[in-house]
Amino acid sequence: MRNYTQFYIDGAFVDPITPKTAEVINPATEAVSGTISLGSEADVDKAVAAARRAFASWSVSTVAERIDLLGAILAEYERRERELGEAVTEEMGAPLSLGCGFHTLLGKGHIGTALEVLKTYKFEEERGVTMIRKEPIGVCGLITPWNWPMNQTCVKIAPALATGCTMILKPPQLAPYSAQILAEILHTAGVPAGVFNMIQGAGSVIGAALSRHKDVDMISFTGSEPVGVQIQKDAADTVKRVGLELGGKSAWIVLDDASMAANVAGATGGMMGNSGQTCSAGSRLLVPAARMEEAIAAAAGAANGVTVGDPTGNFAMGPVVSKSQYNIIQDYITKGIDEGATLIAGGPGRPEGIDKGWFVRPTVFVGNNDMVIAREEIFGPVLVMIGYDDLDHAVEIANDSDFGLGGYVSGEDLTVARDVSKRMRTGAIWVNGGFDFNAPFGGYKRSGNGREWGVEGFAEYVETKAIVGWNAAG
Ligand code: NDP
Repeated sequence: MRNYTQFYIDGAFVDPITPKTAEVINPATEAVSGTISLGSEADVDKAVAAARRAFASWSVSTVAERIDLLGAILAEYERRERELGEAVTEEMGAPLSLGCGFHTLLGKGHIGTALEVLKTYKFEEERGVTMIRKEPIGVCGLITPWNWPMNQTCVKIAPALATGCTMILKPPQLAPYSAQILAEILHTAGVPAGVFNMIQGAGSVIGAALSRHKDVDMISFTGSEPVGVQIQKDAADTVKRVGLELGGKSAWIVLDDASMAANVAGATGGMMGNSGQTCSAGSRLLVPAARMEEAIAAAAGAANGVTVGDPTGNFAMGPVVSKSQYNIIQDYITKGIDEGATLIAGGPGRPEGIDKGWFVRPTVFVGNNDMVIAREEIFGPVLVMIGYDDLDHAVEIANDSDFGLGGYVSGEDLTVARDVSKRMRTGAIWVNGGFDFNAPFGGYKRSGNGREWGVEGFAEYVETKAIVGWNAAG
């Protein structure tokens, strides 16, 4: 049992001002796995005051000091990486191989990338008579979700530290353990008091208090669209910057010249990774209508081949994060059947032989783009395959979405694949796979308004100042 009832404020682990606790549930067993504290507005005031005080010195720290600090954090993160991965598995149900693999690797990658970007980042640039300075925006509120906990915390904390900002992290109630360990890592690595603070608790209390706070200069949020909208409203009165990374309904276009079976199987397996709880998951798989039979065989085979079970065992897929998420996904599966989509793998209920834990069957439908299951983000292991007539039709379907976060194109002819990628209205496209920590990540349309990762991730945390007359006119 984990007992994480203290917050991290002003360089120390401290009790909440008003004691209040909540149990954390292991989604694989439905048993209580530990206890956290739920903070109040008074804790937020205390943390914001600490961050404001620390901003005076951290904002003028040297690049060399920040490079040293990020290096120390990276080393301490690596030392405790296994522990972090085990915490991720326990809190949100990712298989251990994933929790101690891609989950922690993403966090580490963002810290390492921020460190590298910082080495050459132009904080000052002279342009004619003017000096353009990038200055830290101030005290930042970082509000994160449970689906990729280390990815989403580190992608915010690392550039915020690198640019000279101070911050208050509000981790998700559903996945609080890894954030607590991360706070310990930052403490041991020597982050100066008040620069990083962390308060656990309800988003409607802590998140809202940060969003409304007059002494918080910026909010970076990753999560659902309704909460993103609420944060913007809460932040409006103080005119603070709000960076939003929201949901998606990303299309994966398999072009006619691609190896159909391999790509459809790969896309299906990818959709089931992390139990489908990935904002940029390719949840709409677009295949040539004339080759639908081939695609169905490949998708059904791949989905049926995904082993589901105890995340500490040797299974490809664990549970989804909570009972409520399980119920939402079950409702979508029922909706898909009711609206006439053809179920080719999975379906309602838990996988055979499992009667406990929030396990969902890897599910694939064949449907059309007007169906609810093709329009709304399900955030579970549910894929909808849609046939297209020609390239224009494929692009039209891909772009016919309220979201615009990710997109995928598979094809042999790179010229065609590139052309399709340029026509898709989303923030990121992966052409025949690939991975890049320096590629900016964020959404068009209702998928958000910010860009994280790499050098673009720094832009969220800096103000631009023009000092005109810095140089005498020539
Ligand atoms: P939520 O939006 O419910 O929660 C995200 C965070 O916001 C949590 O820490 C939550 O706190 C907090 N929060 C809740 N209400 C408020 C509020 N009124 N003010 C401020 N903060 C608040 O999302 P989920 O955690 O349920 O994540 C799943 C959703 O997020 C999906 O729709 C998914 O697509 C999207 N998402 C997008 C990503 C992206 O990069 N674009 C990445 C990951 C997820 P609490 O702990 O109380 O819930």
